[in-house]
Amino acid sequence: MHLRSLGAALTVTGSAHLLHMGGGRVLIDCGLFQGEGALEARNREDFGFDPRDLDAVILTHAHLDHVGRLPLLVRRGYRGPVYCTPPTAVLAETVLLDSARLQVEASRQEVRRARREGGEPGGEEPLYDEDDVHRALALLRPTLHFGQSVQVGPLRVTPQRAGHILGSAYLLIEAGGERLIMTGDLGHRGGGLQPDFTPPPPADAVVIETTYAGHLHRPRPATLAEFAGALRQSVRAGGKILIPSFAIERAQVILYTLRGLMDSGEVPRVPVFLDSPMAARATEAYFRFADELIPPLRGAVARGEDPFRPSTLHVVLTGEESRRLNRYDGPAIILAGNGMMTGGRIGHHLRHHLWKPGTSLVVVSYQPPGTLGGQLVSGAATVPLLGEDIPVRARIHTLGGFSAHADQTDLLAFLGTTGTPRVWLVHGEERVMQAFVPVLAGRGLTGNLMPDGEEVDLLSTTFPGGRPLSVTPGGEEVREGVGGE
Ligand SMILES: [Zn+2]
Repeated sequence: MHLRSLGAALTVTGSAHLLHMGGGRVLIDCGLFQGEGALEARNREDFGFDPRDLDAVILTHAHLDHVGRLPLLVRRGYRGPVYCTPPTAVLAETVLLDSARLQVEASRQEVRRARREGGEPGGEEPLYDEDDVHRALALLRPTLHFGQSVQVGPLRVTPQRAGHILGSAYLLIEAGGERLIMTGDLGHRGGGLQPDFTPPPPADAVVIETTYAGHLHRPRPATLAEFAGALRQSVRAGGKILIPSFAIERAQVILYTLRGLMDSGEVPRVPVFLDSPMAARATEAYFRFADELIPPLRGAVARGEDPFRPSTLHVVLTGEESRRLNRYDGPAIILAGNGMMTGGRIGHHLRHHLWKPGTSLVVVSYQPPGTLGGQLVSGAATVPLLGEDIPVRARIHTLGGFSAHADQTDLLAFLGTTGTPRVWLVHGEERVMQAFVPVLAGRGLTGNLMPDGEEVDLLSTTFPGGRPLSVTPGGEEVREGVGGE
């Protein structure tokens, strides 16, 4: 079994892994690189293989950094099947159409900017558009079900529950008596709306995500208590309560939590505005596939309730309605995207409210240093926003415990049942992965950083094609991980 990582090797985004096993060639995930310019530029590069040579694509889940280059793959000639779970197919449609819209919009803005500055209106072509997305969606085969094996060419593939977001799976892949586990992204046990990941079966090698391999999450009950406290304080402050949120999983966790806190009287009933059409569509998918979620949610839906609907919820669909919220008086919770405040409707809410002393900003996602969100959580007095410098007078509450990713304890528990020492690390910051290697060594496991773009024999014990093990002295470092929501 040979693997070539064409994304999420020594970095957190762009997941795409080309597997050669049992005579088959299968691409696991086809994600977008996200982040600073150099990383994003990689989306425009050649895949490094001919898409027409693939037997199949398998998607582990619908996050953009796992599915976002699929329309490009199709644009460059791929016509084969794309296997995924039914919820992943539904969420992938929402995610990819939104991505195409953003690509086209970014390209138009670039052209306008060039014209304004009197330059050539060249600009970057959008990576792909809605037509490409529809061509990609037509290839989806939502035939993967947890615990049920399917034949993908010469490979026997068994998806198992990954507990990360709705529909997320990790894969047991078998051929010729060899067994490989590819994790995709794993969830935090006891975390959000997903049941815990299924303990993995024995395997000969594991390729594992390491987003939060250097971090221990705060216990969820403590996070929920902190969230309730922040909301009570915010309601008392009297102004808008802004919650920047990702559209998938985080928005549903927040809606479900708000409903519970308001029903129990822990937080006063104030209007809740879900100002994100994408989050609204994702929430419909969560409702539709409620059988996949934790028992309290399944039970609520079975009783005919909508667990994602606080009694004061208003769903804001158009941009015009969203702007009208700026004139709304009195306390209200506004949930808007995107979660990292790098774009989306949260921008105009921040511009209208950050400078008011009664405003509260409740941050429920990791904010990378240097971004607007990063500046806000580190206490900046003014921030640049939509072309203006805005003084920050809002009260800022930062909650770190809502992550949908496995932390170090979760990852070690996962590896504990696979019975293999061969562990390949992907989807993490290089520094975090290097610090994780000695932690693994302490448990008799050989961790190796998956090289970028180089094919490796996953069963090799000497890792000839791989990057040599680099071990950071001191090892077990526990620190804040990086985004990769
Ligand atoms: Zn993910």
